[in-house]
Amino acid sequence: MTSTDTSTTALSPLSTQLRDAATAALGRVGVTAPEPPAAGGLPVVSPLSGEPILTLPEAGAADVDAAVAAAADAFRAWRSVPGPARGAVIKRLGELLTEHKADLAELVTIEAGKITSEALGEVQEMIDVCDLAVGLSRTLGGRTMPSERPGHRLMEQWHPLGVVGVVSAFNFPVAVWSWNTAIALVCGDTVVWKPSEKTPLSSLASNALLRRALAEAGHPAAVSTVVVGGREAGEALVADRRVALLSATGSERMGQQVAPVVAARGGRYLLELGGNNAAVVAPSADLDLAVRGIVFAAAGTAGQRCTTLRRLIVHSSVVDDVVARLQRAYTGLPIGDPRAGGTLVGPLTDAAARDRMLAALDEARADGGTVVVGGEAVDVDGAPGASYVSPAVVRMPAQTDVVRRETFGPVLYVMAYDTLDEAIAMHNDVPQGLSSAIFTMDVREAETFLSEGGSDCGIVNVNIGTSGAEIGGAFGGEKSTGGGRESGSDSWKQYMRRVTNTVNYSTELPLAQGVNFG
Ligand code: NAD
Repeated sequence: MTSTDTSTTALSPLSTQLRDAATAALGRVGVTAPEPPAAGGLPVVSPLSGEPILTLPEAGAADVDAAVAAAADAFRAWRSVPGPARGAVIKRLGELLTEHKADLAELVTIEAGKITSEALGEVQEMIDVCDLAVGLSRTLGGRTMPSERPGHRLMEQWHPLGVVGVVSAFNFPVAVWSWNTAIALVCGDTVVWKPSEKTPLSSLASNALLRRALAEAGHPAAVSTVVVGGREAGEALVADRRVALLSATGSERMGQQVAPVVAARGGRYLLELGGNNAAVVAPSADLDLAVRGIVFAAAGTAGQRCTTLRRLIVHSSVVDDVVARLQRAYTGLPIGDPRAGGTLVGPLTDAAARDRMLAALDEARADGGTVVVGGEAVDVDGAPGASYVSPAVVRMPAQTDVVRRETFGPVLYVMAYDTLDEAIAMHNDVPQGLSSAIFTMDVREAETFLSEGGSDCGIVNVNIGTSGAEIGGAFGGEKSTGGGRESGSDSWKQYMRRVTNTVNYSTELPLAQGVNFG
């Protein structure tokens, strides 16, 4: 990769170091970043410094049009490649991801601000979903049903859909693509990916590894394309009639814009949107275990996971104890450069995210809340432009509007309850429905929370936090979270079309439902 305009203007020492590290990691993956455009372009801002470290050409609607046309063309060949041979490409992708795990994780840290251990975990999730997809490539199958007519067979088949468009968020810059792409490819679809404009480098690197796996097996590169751009590119992908399934991950606002556009053109959508996840802490809970689970879920990833724990609903008999324990745990949380060993809380994505968090805390105070710990901007040496904050715990007298919104930062609101019915009602009284948990040693409470009258979320856990899902289960949530399911279980069905077949192998032509037609 050559130096860019950004690289030669006055970069701070930290941004220079980040640019060089990103360039080196890209190089090890085999990516030469495109030359920056003469004017404009997409600045790559690292949250570690808060400054642009590189500038890339920005894709617009015409680039998306060309990418979808190529993907539609590639689909005609790819759909006929035997499933296990498609699986072999994903198996190779898993090997390449394993080989370049540290390189990709470094890019994730530089672009998304994740601490190294979580960035490595994100890449591991990509490797895991490749394993899942390879297994699927030999087991995707339909059912047979008994026909009411003699000498007839009734069955279903699953066929590839076509081009899958993937729009992804900054906070899981590569894993979300792999959940979609590994499954879509073994299903016989081709993919066009519009990553977050905040994380183009890790997306270029990921797709380069997949294209290497495709090339080694003699398949066209256009089976998987990345278009690096902003909202305009996303909107073009969403509106394109050739995109059979649009899988979009991001804010509730984005999902509300995307869904009607795809529905109006008769397309299919899969939405993975914001969450406002809660945990109930019952009187019988193992509080040592609960507090460990709560701190990781609420403060990990600097509160920037869709599954981050944002609301804690604690029985009134233990709420003071729980808050005191959280205060102690939060006071010792190491905040700083996410590459440094020992750091547990890295930066927020940008200054706007920090300002939204601080404004939410002001609103909570105005609603009668008390910030028990944290909730302040933090200066980190050598990074004056970065947006670090101390994770906050806020005691709230009630679940007010600010608590019912997703604020994408490390704010944990704590409310008290007296009966489990009251806790469940409070738990479900938010627009979102992604992830939830109960900490209890009482089987009746646990089963009630898991039952149809309990949590209304797509993910419901017992004695673990709300974040850190495994790829074997279907991932996603209800209500304004969008209703989509990705990754494991039978999520693959969303990437295929179901065909029902009736085959008559008799010499008669009986009609269904006993109809006589002459
Ligand atoms: P965002 O909504 O700002 O952007 C997400 C993506 O959508 C980006 O690629 C962006 O360019 C694109 N986009 C925005 N408006 C668009 C439009 N009108 N048409 C087409 N594309 C458009 O979200 P973000 O700030 O990157 O990510 C944080 C949000 O994502 C949080 O709300 C978080 O909860 C959510 N999220 C959800 C999941 C999940 O699985 N449920 C996973 C990760 C993140």
